[in-house]
Amino acid sequence: MKIQNIHVFDGQNVLEGLYDVFIQNHRISKICVHDPASGGCEEEILDAAGRWLLPGLIDLHVHLTWNGKEDPAADITHSTREENMLETVSNALKYLKHGITSVRDLGSPDDAALHVGKAIEKGQIAGPRIFATGMSLIMTGGHDPFHGLSVDGPWEALKGVRTQVKKGAKVIKISATGGVYGRESGESVDDTELRQEEVDMIIDEAHRRKVPVTAHAIGEKGIRACLAAGIDCIEHGHFIQPDMARQMAEQNTALVPTLYVYRNLAQNPDIPAYARKKSLEVVQQHSKAANCACREGVLIGTGSDAGSPNTPHPSLLEEILAMEQAGFSRIDVLRAATSNAAKILGMNGKLGTVSEDAFADLLIIDGNPAEDLQALKVPYAVIADGRLYYSINQN
Ligand SMILES: [Zn+2]
Repeated sequence: MKIQNIHVFDGQNVLEGLYDVFIQNHRISKICVHDPASGGCEEEILDAAGRWLLPGLIDLHVHLTWNGKEDPAADITHSTREENMLETVSNALKYLKHGITSVRDLGSPDDAALHVGKAIEKGQIAGPRIFATGMSLIMTGGHDPFHGLSVDGPWEALKGVRTQVKKGAKVIKISATGGVYGRESGESVDDTELRQEEVDMIIDEAHRRKVPVTAHAIGEKGIRACLAAGIDCIEHGHFIQPDMARQMAEQNTALVPTLYVYRNLAQNPDIPAYARKKSLEVVQQHSKAANCACREGVLIGTGSDAGSPNTPHPSLLEEILAMEQAGFSRIDVLRAATSNAAKILGMNGKLGTVSEDAFADLLIIDGNPAEDLQALKVPYAVIADGRLYYSINQN
């Protein structure tokens, strides 16, 4: 396949001029300056007429089993396992059309997202690449029990890591602190949940198995415990202080701030009142921490927390716009949604980039996203794993 006559944002920068991009065997085989005289030979040609090509977008924080309505945790609790599995499949199917070609699922009951990810990998259904954790690791009574595997003490923590790795988890997710959405009482964002020795064991064992670890972490003490143990990524990170941001940059701990979902939780009257109240308490702090991390050079990726209350699948564009509104430059936001996110997935050079040998997960849009991020809203075409999945002309 050949995509011709197109501008390129390559995951890092907007390239000068127009290009022709060749795809073979799922990958980008060649990129060259557009040559109007060259034919396509036997290739399938997509003439982009000066549109914009960028890497398929990556959402690093989703919950495919949650439905994104007013109280998804209550909904899954009242549904059967089979119903939850179908919900997971139907939500996964919503992503590709919007140009989101990879997602990282950070918690699903019965490991539903892990199973759906495998079905997509086998080609049984067409969906985004899913980098799933399956069940997250939490203390007994900890944050997000709906998809949590309770581990108490270092040896259970070790067993938890091994259990999830055996099931095929691409990342281990832990609840390091309480959250705003979760349980109505008995949970606070300042609470440190897993103990230091449990966090240490989880990260040490996961790294022995070459699997990264990320943490739901809002309060300062909980984030510090994760950083001390050498965690790979922090989710949310509302109370990151400047010295912590410097530590993150030095030890390559990434941040997925998920700004949109907390603003939305704080403002929306339709979600559970306790969650709204707790969001309001932390939302001011949130953009301050994310900007501080950005200034200190922390690797930052986009994550929407889609599936959470009133946060439907997909909500990545909303997160992208929230980051811009919080003060991130457009080019930084675009990097966060492509090359940075791929690095956080351990897929540097393979995803999140328009470069030779990378997987051909690509998005074609009408305008320059570096000038207006809204250009991402309605894709002109989406190519997933080297195949044209969606084109506005055919749908
Ligand atoms: Zn989440």
